[in-house]
Amino acid sequence: MRRWNGWGEEGSSATLSAEARRLLEIEIGRPEVTLPADARFDDVVAAVPATRLPAQLLLSDDPADRVRHARGQSLPDWIALRSGRLGRVPDAVAHPATDEDVGDLLAHAAGAGAAVIPFGGGTSVVGGVTPAEDDDRPTLTIALDRLAGLTNLDERSGLATFGAGTVGPELEAGLAPHGLTLGHFPQSFERSTLGGWVAARSAGQQSIGFGRIEDLFAGGRIVAPAGTMDLPLHPASAAGPDLRQLVLGSEGRLGVITRATVRAVPKPQGEAFPAWFLPDWPHTMEAAREVARAGLPLSMVRVSTPHETISLLALAGRSRSGDLLARYLRLRGLGAERSLVLVGASGMERFVEGAVREAGSILRRHGGIAVGGSIGRRWLATRFAAPDLRDTAWDAGYALDTVETAVDWTRLPDLAASLGRALRHGLDDRGERVHAFSHLSHLYPDGSSIYATYVFRRAADPDETLDRWRRLKAAASEAIVAGGGTISHQHGVGRDHLPYLALEKGELGMAALADVARRFDPDGTMNPGVLIGRAT
Ligand SMILES: Cc1cc2nc3c(=O)[nH]c(=O)nc-3n(C[C@H](O)[C@H](O)[C@H](O)COP(=O)(O)OP(=O)(O)OC[C@H]3O[C@@H](n4cnc5c(N)ncnc54)[C@H](O)[C@@H]3O)c2cc1C
Repeated sequence: MRRWNGWGEEGSSATLSAEARRLLEIEIGRPEVTLPADARFDDVVAAVPATRLPAQLLLSDDPADRVRHARGQSLPDWIALRSGRLGRVPDAVAHPATDEDVGDLLAHAAGAGAAVIPFGGGTSVVGGVTPAEDDDRPTLTIALDRLAGLTNLDERSGLATFGAGTVGPELEAGLAPHGLTLGHFPQSFERSTLGGWVAARSAGQQSIGFGRIEDLFAGGRIVAPAGTMDLPLHPASAAGPDLRQLVLGSEGRLGVITRATVRAVPKPQGEAFPAWFLPDWPHTMEAAREVARAGLPLSMVRVSTPHETISLLALAGRSRSGDLLARYLRLRGLGAERSLVLVGASGMERFVEGAVREAGSILRRHGGIAVGGSIGRRWLATRFAAPDLRDTAWDAGYALDTVETAVDWTRLPDLAASLGRALRHGLDDRGERVHAFSHLSHLYPDGSSIYATYVFRRAADPDETLDRWRRLKAAASEAIVAGGGTISHQHGVGRDHLPYLALEKGELGMAALADVARRFDPDGTMNPGVLIGRAT
């Protein structure tokens, strides 16, 4: 079972490799010696207050269920869970099995004056499923886990309809017997849901080839306090504004997405993930830009900064093959400034070969050296396990979080640099150092996402750890906004990015979003405080 206060499985206890520990000790110092033990689940459950919601057949006021649905996966969520200082916990959790159940629950919540939070996999890293601290209403969390599975497949068109609570592996298992795939693999794939992907506009790791969720989401149903809206299936349409765009990124503010139809494609015949090393960051960025603008049929390109290249090798632990590779690259003239570039192609064998060959010739022109497929194979085998590092880092005394954005190629070099600086120096006035590294992960013809990971020392006092995170989040967000980036390329807005959203959408844009929310949800019961603040 998934652990209640982190990411990995309950009882799993990996430890940081000696290299990773050494790297963190050199970069940011030894961990604090007086760290508090994690709160115990039973103690946290015992402290849950009585529900304030009147009984209804579908409602569970079981305190354990309520704790398990109280938070997502943002660092503030983690700090709350690990310290046991949970604050607000939903008054009840419901696990509806039909669209009618969802309608009944919304009506019940309205009658009780309650707020409602739709809960998919609970993998939000922006506070999207966290009850609002400043809202006195009782909270009902609607968990979508029973509204799951394949309900219809139009095999000729590749249109597959699933319950919104379907998690990634279940969705792919539904398509596999038909030789189909969605190709949507966010790093949270094993735990996040189709409804959550749509609601938070997620991007899978191979989105260059398969598309982001907004390309894959063909239609579906949203059950809202004001009624139900069906989004019909058309390959394309000029019938006015596309209402799917209201639902995509709605983050639970409009209603509950109960089902979604997605565009599945034939499972690729072949896939390849060769790796390259380039001599330095300026060459690497330029090569990445050229690859992105060449229009090659690639499925992914992941471009690590030199700092990330070194960090990934250390975090993976020392190995003989790693040592040999480093020696080989040094002999070929690539030193500490080298960058790792992973290229992915999926599809018919001959297209895969052609795409990889063309990308390779661009990378070679920028001094790239091909190192074969073993790094890519390892990436593929461990790509969903990588976030377990957050648990092991935490247990070793370090907090790890990520920020992400996207920006055009012209402004990318400056933003990548200023974001790194903002994170590395974000705790200078606290006398704390921060280890930060980044990669470009989703490349577009006009720009790229930038995904930064940062690690800092946990403090003995959880409030101080939270304060360190707040400072770093603010510093990173301000650098993003100043550098022309979007406040989120893939994680959504939630609570944590809300203060920066108006800078991107403008006053009229924010007012329009609030108006739409009011139309679907006149009493402002849906996920208050997320995406558009308290506006009703
Ligand atoms: C380790 C890790 C790795 C991640 N990697 C990626 C990544 O590679 N790419 C990426 O895009 N994101 C990533 N994320 C972020 C997160 O997984 C995505 O935002 C995902 O789409 C959330 O899906 P979920 O089912 O967990 O939704 P939840 O976290 O449950 O909810 C997210 C938001 O959507 C709303 N919501 C959920 N379901 C519904 C529904 N049925 N109807 C209406 N509203 C709903 C919630 O109220 C909330 O506001 C990662 C997160 C973690 C923890």
